[in-house]
Amino acid sequence: MTCYLAHLSNGPSICVLSWGASGSRSVLTNQSGTWHSGACPTDTLVSFAYVPVDYPCVGKEMSSAVAMEATRRRPKHSSPSVSPEVTEENAGQWGRAWEVDWFSLGGVILLLCTAPFQVFFFVMACHQYKCSVTQPLVELYSGEATLSSIWDKAPSFTWTAVQIYAAWVFFQVVLYTCIPDITHKFLPGYSGGVQDGARTPAGLINKYQINGLQSWLITHALWYANAKYFHWFSPTIIFDNWIPLLWCTNILGYSVSTFAFVKAYLFPTNAEDCKFTGNVFYNFMMGIEFNPRIGKWFDFKLFFNGRPGIVAWTLINLSYAAKQQELYGYVTNSMILVNVLQGIYVLDFFWNEAWYLKTIDICHDHFGWYLGWGDCVWLPFLYTLQGLYLVYNPVQLSTGHAAAVLLLGLGGYYIFRSANHQKDLFRRTDGKCAIWGKKPTFIECAYRSADGGLHHSKLMTSGFWGVARHLNYTGDLMGSLAYCAACGFGHVHPYFYIVYMTILLVHRCVRDEHRCSSKYGKDWKRYTDAVPYRLLPGIF
Ligand code: NDP
Repeated sequence: MTCYLAHLSNGPSICVLSWGASGSRSVLTNQSGTWHSGACPTDTLVSFAYVPVDYPCVGKEMSSAVAMEATRRRPKHSSPSVSPEVTEENAGQWGRAWEVDWFSLGGVILLLCTAPFQVFFFVMACHQYKCSVTQPLVELYSGEATLSSIWDKAPSFTWTAVQIYAAWVFFQVVLYTCIPDITHKFLPGYSGGVQDGARTPAGLINKYQINGLQSWLITHALWYANAKYFHWFSPTIIFDNWIPLLWCTNILGYSVSTFAFVKAYLFPTNAEDCKFTGNVFYNFMMGIEFNPRIGKWFDFKLFFNGRPGIVAWTLINLSYAAKQQELYGYVTNSMILVNVLQGIYVLDFFWNEAWYLKTIDICHDHFGWYLGWGDCVWLPFLYTLQGLYLVYNPVQLSTGHAAAVLLLGLGGYYIFRSANHQKDLFRRTDGKCAIWGKKPTFIECAYRSADGGLHHSKLMTSGFWGVARHLNYTGDLMGSLAYCAACGFGHVHPYFYIVYMTILLVHRCVRDEHRCSSKYGKDWKRYTDAVPYRLLPGIF
């Protein structure tokens, strides 16, 4: 069902229009907080916005009969300058899904119930089975182990872990909120400080305080100072508390997702950018609010996406390297490779944090469990499995193997970074730039935001974006494979990452293309005709 909040140049301040499944239309007007049925003076309508029926100010007051009848159709209006397709189908419909099919719902519930145990399984497999993922299954099958015997052997929740994690999150909050960026003043080519995000489906452009690189540098400088001079804590502290920390991260992950869910109903930051599907599980998982914030600057997506998890990523790897040194008296070349390749990826993230404002996570995904819990738990525990594996299995690679891994990792990084850079440059300069030494070619497209505003955009068909539609993902996958291959071929455990990244990025391709197709309509079709492959030219 569909409701539209319409703002009028005179008469009642708000008018809700709903269309019945048969095409019938009910018109309600709101005067002094009460809804009345009657005529809505569409000649004085200056703008309208799509509003889900469980939107708090609408859902409570609409009569249930009208609410039952309403549907998701668009109002019939046209603009001479735009194709009817853009006007009627695309306005505000290009954010995350409005509808949930049974298959997606099943997946959502399964993930909500099992994801923490999936993470636990991989960490526990290292702790109890030297990272064999088959051994625990074989033992469970043969009756040699039971779920409770495995559970009993796992370290439980400790107050030490709570203190470490609370101090960590608090420190990152302080760095994020209290120390405005100064690094952009002296690092040439770095964009930090206050930056604009992308236009949201409701047509807003948010401002962000970009200081991730600064936070990363301060955190790592302190880590180094502690390891070298102060010795306040052991550099293996993260590894030594790993499973207890898993429980703490889960508490934060579920708390922040629940908070974001409740906040969306009670005090959303931008009500126009909320999305409700009518399915509570999907809303909880994929999020309702687009850019939840506390105060002017504490942006949930920017903070949770980067700070507790990605700043920690390199520290976690350093902690693993320190543990290898403590246990074996040396650090393997595989551990150094994993630290270096993943370190480049993390630094790239922070160096390009302003650019990340334009990526799907920030500018299209809503903030729910998927991002909140994923950033707190999934990312720090599963993106670092290679280093964890190498603590239990200290693989020393032959020179040829190490060189091949390095080449694959750097080659992947080059494609990933160059493709992302090309798109960023193209969009920033509105196509007035050189891509591979030539003026870029592109397809002009138009779309509408939910407030009815008409916008124009361009899809580049030059450079990596002319070779395949998501070559940045291909580069990312090459890098991911390199991290896994650095662990040798003894176990499948460290290869979980490439399997996961392939699923994530292929799914993201499909999701993004579905969204772009809704947003750009026929223009997107023209683009996919011009660039027919997604990840691998000639294959997929
Ligand atoms: P992209 O950077 O590929 O952004 C996709 C968007 O770019 C589209 O929605 C569209 O947005 C625009 N676009 C698509 N085609 C073109 C074109 N030809 N010309 C101009 N603009 C175009 O995707 P992501 O945000 O998902 O990824 C960013 C990077 O982050 C990737 O390199 C990815 O590998 C990496 N990543 C890593 C993850 C990890 O866990 N390690 C997770 C997710 C991403 P618009 O609506 O503006 O037109």
